[in-house]
Amino acid sequence: MSTRGFTTRILHSDRSRAIEHGAVHNPIHTSIPYGYRNSRELARVFQGRQAGFVYARSGQPTQAALEEKITAMEEGTASVVFATGMGAIAATLLALLRSGDHLVSSSYLFANTGSLFHTFEQIGVAVTFVDATDVAHVEAAITPRTRIVFLETIANPRTQVADLARIGELCTERGVIYFVDNTITSPYLFLPGSVGASLVVNSLTKCIGGHGNALGGAVTDTGLYDWSRYPNVYDSYKNGASSGWGIAQLRKKGLRDAGAALAPDAAHRLSVGAETLALRMERACENALKLATHLEAHPRVSRVYYPGLESHPQHGLAKALFRSAGGLFAFELVPEVDCFDFVDSLETVVCSSHLGDTRTMAIPVAHTIFHETGAAARARMGIADSLIRVSTGIEDAADLIEDFDRALDAKPGRAR
Ligand SMILES: *Cc1c(COP(=O)(O)O)cnc(C)c1O
Repeated sequence: MSTRGFTTRILHSDRSRAIEHGAVHNPIHTSIPYGYRNSRELARVFQGRQAGFVYARSGQPTQAALEEKITAMEEGTASVVFATGMGAIAATLLALLRSGDHLVSSSYLFANTGSLFHTFEQIGVAVTFVDATDVAHVEAAITPRTRIVFLETIANPRTQVADLARIGELCTERGVIYFVDNTITSPYLFLPGSVGASLVVNSLTKCIGGHGNALGGAVTDTGLYDWSRYPNVYDSYKNGASSGWGIAQLRKKGLRDAGAALAPDAAHRLSVGAETLALRMERACENALKLATHLEAHPRVSRVYYPGLESHPQHGLAKALFRSAGGLFAFELVPEVDCFDFVDSLETVVCSSHLGDTRTMAIPVAHTIFHETGAAARARMGIADSLIRVSTGIEDAADLIEDFDRALDAKPGRAR
């Protein structure tokens, strides 16, 4: 099965369960409760001894169809979907960490994830933020209380690439959960399981859904972590083989406690979007490389950060790890060009905080998504005041280059 190509597998992955009325495309199931012919059957489902659904907050068929797609994409063993990517990360940490535990995180982090980790610090979980582009920093931070190492494949927005493979070896050696945010690369460009990740999170809102019309998140168990070694598994989830304990605790405890259930109509839209992930990523990556290459040679651009460029400090790492360098890059303007004037002069490109969309989007990050972070933290993360993040869509490259060129040459105050 896994010898078939990525898109073939993903397209057909949700037809492995019963097909209703011969429908070629999965329906949207809206029922919250699930009824059973007899109470003993319901009890078996409750106790996890029979497959089935009970109440939609803990799982239902439209979510399950999406979960199968995500599991197939990540080549994992099982997935749980959540209302948002943030919901997925928060619920996973809630389910797996206890007061007194320690989390090691990359300091190059999506700002909302950073905010969440600071909240965990307030409730008794110690967090150490390290430069994860070098395994040595992660190794130095690990203590006997470390339960999880968390990082992003390509950091948003400055595109630092984590030392993914060597950190994977380290986590395996230490028995620590290796939790990788694959949102920016997506499973089409990179499988975190290939470098030893235990759990993978994807914000489905971004590349996988791809059309900016539904929020969602997913956590996938790669099957590599030995849950019998994890001290925080509750006895009630130790039914059956230990390979299933982690995902059981994420679904039963994480999803239920956080209440972050994915709505069925959103799950359906994300499933449909997921079918074209590879096609969209191919085009978005091609556009990013063309634009980044073009901007690097432009006299009004001072720096471009894109792992696909030879000038990027982790270019070699990105080339070795990823199918392609992704659809996200960032750049700094020369001091004479104002970042607001520049973004306002773009006509095709949309000024928006979103990414992984069919449309190309640009945003001045220091003043928006990283405003609350503060100047000191921005400096540590390498975010200059003029930094602009670009997420490429699937437009024709020539139109994007023309739009950027026009905006770069626009006179101050001439904005639309
Ligand atoms: C957007 C994003 C998230 C959060 O996802 P939501 O679906 O918006 O909650 C997490 N990690 C990264 C890297 C992201 O870009």
